[in-house]
Amino acid sequence: HEREQLRLERMTCVNQLAAGIAHEIRNPLTSIKGFIQLMARRNDRPPRPEHLEIIVAEIGRIDNLISEFQMLARPPKEPVFEKVNMCKLLQDIAFLMEGQLHDKHAELDIKLPTLGCVAFGDVSQLKQVFINLLKNAVEAVPDKGKVVVAIGRQQGMMAITVEDNGNGIPQEIIDKLGTPFFTTKENGTGLGLSVCYSIVQSHGGKISVSSQTSQGTTFTVLLPAAVDDSVLPTVDHQCTFSV
Ligand code: ADP
Ligand code: MG
Repeated sequence: HEREQLRLERMTCVNQLAAGIAHEIRNPLTSIKGFIQLMARRNDRPPRPEHLEIIVAEIGRIDNLISEFQMLARPPKEPVFEKVNMCKLLQDIAFLMEGQLHDKHAELDIKLPTLGCVAFGDVSQLKQVFINLLKNAVEAVPDKGKVVVAIGRQQGMMAITVEDNGNGIPQEIIDKLGTPFFTTKENGTGLGLSVCYSIVQSHGGKISVSSQTSQGTTFTVLLPAAVDDSVLPTVDHQCTFSV
């Protein structure tokens, strides 16, 4: 009975994914096709650089989508647990985000304690989580906005908060966060948070959100701290996405 329930839940996820993927890939494909047809009609020699740029950007969109989708659609990869220096990981990510921050004249403040920043998790998966959360935060803030990342403790776990002073998330949208393909952005994939949720869940952690419209949003990620190596968190791969 339980197995049947699980099978049905998985089916729903797979159906959602399939429908979403079809839609998301068709949009850039339509525009690629349109521009190639246009170039053929005009018989431009050489083709206009701005047309080629659009085609390359649209192919890039499909490429991104497939990478994010692969993360989600693959049988969830068991995290390879090790001690992870979260200070270093967050600083590496901040470095990656420099371009986007600069474009927005936004400020990133990382508040790190001097001790106790060692989590227990899969480095590359945790990187993915914080890249996605920071990307969303930078996308949400206005020009000259501010993002603050901090590490602390909560409920006996390591708590990493990503706070922004962006547009905030209305209550009715908070309930939908983490649903694959749910996005309010014109060029969003709606996959970032669902990837975050499944990674954090498989780490035995938790993600929570608090947000106030036009004030900003704080995502809190709870992760097992590496105080005691011998205690591995229970790994649970359920096809649910809860906040
Ligand atoms: P995407 O960024 O491609 O839209 P995500 O899964 O990363 O997909 O996010 C889903 C949606 O959640 C976003 O479209 C946005 O509406 C909302 N969201 C996520 N993070 C924030 C944030 N920091 N501030 C405001 N809205 C957010
Ligand atoms: Mg995103």
